[in-house]
Amino acid sequence: MNTKHILASLALLFVSSSLIAQQYLKEEDYKPEDTEFWEPEVEKVDPGESNASPPSDAVVLFGGDDLSKWESVKGGDAQWDVQGGHFTVKPGTGGIKTKDDFGSFQLHIEWRSPQEIVSESQGRGNSGIFLQGLYEVQVLDSYDNRTYANGQAGSIYKQYPPLANAMRPPSDWETYDIIYTAPEFDEKNGALIEPGYVTVIHNGVVVQNHSKLQGTTQYIGTPKWVAHGDGPIILQDHSNPVSFRNIWIREL
Ligand code: MG
Repeated sequence: MNTKHILASLALLFVSSSLIAQQYLKEEDYKPEDTEFWEPEVEKVDPGESNASPPSDAVVLFGGDDLSKWESVKGGDAQWDVQGGHFTVKPGTGGIKTKDDFGSFQLHIEWRSPQEIVSESQGRGNSGIFLQGLYEVQVLDSYDNRTYANGQAGSIYKQYPPLANAMRPPSDWETYDIIYTAPEFDEKNGALIEPGYVTVIHNGVVVQNHSKLQGTTQYIGTPKWVAHGDGPIILQDHSNPVSFRNIWIREL
């Protein structure tokens, strides 16, 4: 056995004995490094130029040009109008959904209420973002427009009102950054194991803080849990010409 071998054996002995010792350490015997781990190294991501531009590992769902990542919920191509780097709900054509399905994710999306102010309450600038196609984060012109609190912009529709009304005037763009944790269901019997959670940041203001979903969004009646797997993002056609731009997603 040469010196190198002896040193290697000693190092191995030291590491294994310290690992064993760590299991029996008393609180007062801990050293700082006993609670630090280095591996696996955290993956590098290049952030976008601003907090609104997609980081290097994001999937861009709409970059300004076309709706190729989307289709109509009725089947076939998405019918909404693309113009000037954004797209707008074409009332009556139905919602649009991503061609891809997602589990848990971080979603950035920007939207703008119609310039022409018509109607009130739920009739003004209504659309919505359905997470996994089932849970609606409400889109509404809630600038100077009262409606039921758990139905205004930034609400988890009919479940949680937003923590604040962070609306800009209708001519301005709004941003949502949504962090979604998908619910988990028992593979055999479909029973709920863990509900879904939603955090929403509206124009930089936290309006949903890890809100625990109560089930699927229901217009009438109470939320219910129905077992499901990954699902699309659906944007709602609620007959109002709401516009969207700069949409990207990072699966978590
Ligand atoms: Mg809606």
